[in-house]
Amino acid sequence: MSRLVVVSNRTADPRNTAAGGLAVAVRESLQQTGGLWFGWSGKVAEEGSEDRGAARTNEPHLQTVGNVTLATLDLSQEDHETYYLGYANAVLWPVFHYRLDLANFDARFAAGYRRVNQLFARKLLPLLRPNDTIWVHDYHLIPLAAELRAMGCRNRIGFFLHIPMPPPLIMAAIPEHGWLTRCLFAYDLVGFQSEADVMHFSHHVESEAWAQTLSRDCIRAFDRTLRIGAYPIGIDVDDFIRLAEADEAREMFSRIRDEYSRRRLLLGVDRLDYSKGLPQRVHAFRELLERYPETRNLATLIQIAAPSREDVDAYGELRRHMDSLCGAINGDHGELDWMPVRYIHRNIARRRLPGLYRASHVALITPLRDGMNLVAKEFIAAQDPADPGMLVLSRFAGAAEQLKEALLVNPYDTHGTAQAIHHALTMPLDERINRHKALLDRIRKFDVLWWSSSFLRALHEVERDDVEVASDALCPSYQ
Ligand code: ADP
Repeated sequence: MSRLVVVSNRTADPRNTAAGGLAVAVRESLQQTGGLWFGWSGKVAEEGSEDRGAARTNEPHLQTVGNVTLATLDLSQEDHETYYLGYANAVLWPVFHYRLDLANFDARFAAGYRRVNQLFARKLLPLLRPNDTIWVHDYHLIPLAAELRAMGCRNRIGFFLHIPMPPPLIMAAIPEHGWLTRCLFAYDLVGFQSEADVMHFSHHVESEAWAQTLSRDCIRAFDRTLRIGAYPIGIDVDDFIRLAEADEAREMFSRIRDEYSRRRLLLGVDRLDYSKGLPQRVHAFRELLERYPETRNLATLIQIAAPSREDVDAYGELRRHMDSLCGAINGDHGELDWMPVRYIHRNIARRRLPGLYRASHVALITPLRDGMNLVAKEFIAAQDPADPGMLVLSRFAGAAEQLKEALLVNPYDTHGTAQAIHHALTMPLDERINRHKALLDRIRKFDVLWWSSSFLRALHEVERDDVEVASDALCPSYQ
């Protein structure tokens, strides 16, 4: 069996059960076969990176945890600013979430992004064995395979994009979009979260690179045939149910249910990110209180917003905006014994989250755009099947393709979202049970193990007859 090598911007200790999202998913796949997990250490070194001639050598720190080796690199200050804060978080993240207005196309960022991908490739290469299967994750590392190929790497390499793929004309706004697209053709398989993402990618390469779509999952351009497909990421449903039944979650459940015994609880759990539609959600909640007076003094929105990327400008602005919106709604509608919104700008311990999910009557998961949204799946898993809470879900979350029995909303439509929240609050028990059962069955069928095993199976099945194309073609310049 070939060894799995995972490369992602950040790594995590595979023993850490408190992690969410990508860390859990990667841990599941790595522990099965044993392997190597390579990424940024999260540390910014004081001295310059070796690329700029500094004496200090930047070799990966190696750490063995069970059958997994973690290899991590520090970044220089400049690489951190241009690759991470710059190109990843101020170009790719906003554009891929359709926010061209928030993008900063500084040419230094693209250069830093390429430099760090080259650095990763150079440091990873000596750690590779000929039979390794390499799985690269997310938007930070799009050019990694191209850089590895240019250095002679012939291993199978797959890429999974965790964030949405934008439609062609939005993608085309990135000055280096041609380079990014071409770099993706250095992989053997590129996976996306949803069918909509696959369609956007195919349309983009068809219109920009005269690509030929050979079949549903094969596309040809740049003298390469690339396998593509939708592999919606899931959660470990049974593990999450166990977490929901453990002491800390039960205790959280009882505390919240006691405290809000006379109320109907609405819950939002997100990183404080402009893609999550938080201000729009608060507006919709306000509309609910104004249009449906019976919800006043009854419905309480708990919004947990975990601090995120606070060193990127757009995030500070969002924080101030949310503070003022929540203050205004509480000022205008609050009573001495009822605050409409509890807004908490903090992380919640992962072990307590399921108790909070279970105590809530409605989850409001209304991103303006989201690759998948795992909170939606966690909420479903945490419910009591005999009296489940209802999910109000944005049609613009990747999860909406799978979770059709949720109440799907357009988060830009304040009135429609308020109506859906009201519908969720008043839905009869038997309808809630039926919808929840269908949702739970689906997230169980397409769980995190399904995600990693179906992606890796497809990667192993790719027929590779043209991996030896000229390295220049696979590792183009972006200028
Ligand atoms: P994203 O990856 O964009 O942050 P997801 O919903 O896909 O969004 O994944 C978020 C993960 O982080 C979930 O596992 C969720 O439980 C966790 N999470 C999100 N917000 C919080 C919070 N405020 N406190 C604790 N965990 C959180």
